[in-house]
Formats: sequence, C-alpha cells, structure tokens
Amino acid sequence: MRKIGDKYVSSDNTAVNKKLVLTHYGNGKCACVKCGFTDIRALSIDHVNGGGCDERRQTHRAGNTFYRWLIKNNFPLGYQTLCMNCQWIKRFDELDFTSITMETIRSQYKRMFPR
Ligand SMILES: [Zn+2]
Repeated sequence: MRKIGDKYVSSDNTAVNKKLVLTHYGNGKCACVKCGFTDIRALSIDHVNGGGCDERRQTHRAGNTFYRWLIKNNFPLGYQTLCMNCQWIKRFDELDFTSITMETIRSQYKRMFPR
C-alpha cells in the first residue's frame, strides 16, 4: 500500500481493499474480532456504535467506495471486523425485548391479520 503525504492510497482492486480493511479492523488478522471466523465471504465492517445504515444512506458509501474511504482517511476509529453471525447477534442484542408485553404482541398481530 502506497502513502502519499499522510494519506494511504487504495488499490484499484476491490478484493485487495476489502482484505486490507478487514485485516486492519480485525486487529492484524483478516478475521472476526469476536469469534475469530476467517471466511472473507462472510466478513464485513461493523460500526462499533451502530448507525451503519444511516451513515451509508447519508454518504452513499458502500462496498469498495467505503473501503477506499476508510483507507484514504487513515482507518478512522469506530469500526471493527465482524462475521455475519456476530453482526446478527449484535443487532439482536440491541433490540429491547424486555419492554414488549403480550398485549403489544396481540395488538400487533391483530393489525397484521385483521378478521
Ligand atoms: Zn464472529
């Protein structure tokens, strides 16, 4: 990877950029930081504090554009490499199940399937 001034220069190759970014945010390994899973097909960048969807919508940064942006900006903090399993588990854990009552479920169900 080349560096011009204080900025890194990304590759033209998406796979190279992806592996580089995943390795950086995997703490030096191209692997999930939670469980160690290494199959690159199911690894992705997670926003540590959430908000990934909003950020993508606002900045239109996804895929290689996102990887290039991370490289160009010297790998900003706030990201980590996660596998899709750990992404889903994290998303599930962020849902608040304790405040949902059976009454909420019943009324939602009635709304979905009115007779
Ligand atoms: Zn994982």
